Amino acid sequence: MGYKQFKISDDITLIQETGVANFMRCNIWHVRGRDFDLVIDTGMGLDSLKRWIMRHTDRPIKAIVTHCHFDHSGCLHEFDVRLGHPAEADILADPANEKIVYSGAWTRIAIIDPLQHPQFSSETYSVKAAPLTGYLDEGDVIDLGDKTYQILHLPGHSPGSIGLWDVKKKILFSGDALYDGALLDSLYHSNVNDYLNTLARIEALGVGVFHAGHYPSFGKQRMQDLIDQYRKGENSLVDVDEWFNSNEGELKDIFTDQDWSGFIASQNK
Ligand SMILES: [Zn+2]
Repeated sequence: MGYKQFKISDDITLIQETGVANFMRCNIWHVRGRDFDLVIDTGMGLDSLKRWIMRHTDRPIKAIVTHCHFDHSGCLHEFDVRLGHPAEADILADPANEKIVYSGAWTRIAIIDPLQHPQFSSETYSVKAAPLTGYLDEGDVIDLGDKTYQILHLPGHSPGSIGLWDVKKKILFSGDALYDGALLDSLYHSNVNDYLNTLARIEALGVGVFHAGHYPSFGKQRMQDLIDQYRKGENSLVDVDEWFNSNEGELKDIFTDQDWSGFIASQNK
């Protein structure tokens, strides 16, 4: 089956697509609420995410994309309620591959394991149109009945990047605004100044736990390291082609599991 999932807490489950390179593997967050569930980001769309999730809940589902990129928006079209930022509404309604950043080196790197997805082809891959059914923007609040999330507009990586902020529990679903890896700030619609402002904002929020768009979750100290490194110019992936060419020999063990043990241990303290 095309997904794996891991329980993060009583109401938060992490879902990941199988057979996707670990640096491209999107974190799909299933948040259980009293009145409805949230799915935050939807993977590349290699297999039906809705079918997977329906096996694990009988509540209504609202699907949210933190931004429009292909690794986050692939299964958005499957859901009846599709929420995202207005700045990326046009792209989601007409997701040309270049607009959702499935272009350049990403189409040449074998990010999909052919053993697990023999039908995948980079030449025919596309994401189905998923017009938003509602907008989420700065100041909006999503109320699940037993918890609320404030929507933060976090541009930089992309113009309509958003985060979901649980003020009570100090948990931020940060999308690709901040994750535990090299940040992408040179995409066609990235903006470095916006990124710096977004990171300054995140830094001041008082986040305890980051559930990001990629890589294992992390806490405050790691956040500070990542932001400090970015400000020094040491934590961004500027040229994907160059990175690909210089690492070609090493892009072998890319379908391995990620190591979440450190984060899980920190949660059980
Ligand atoms: Zn992205």
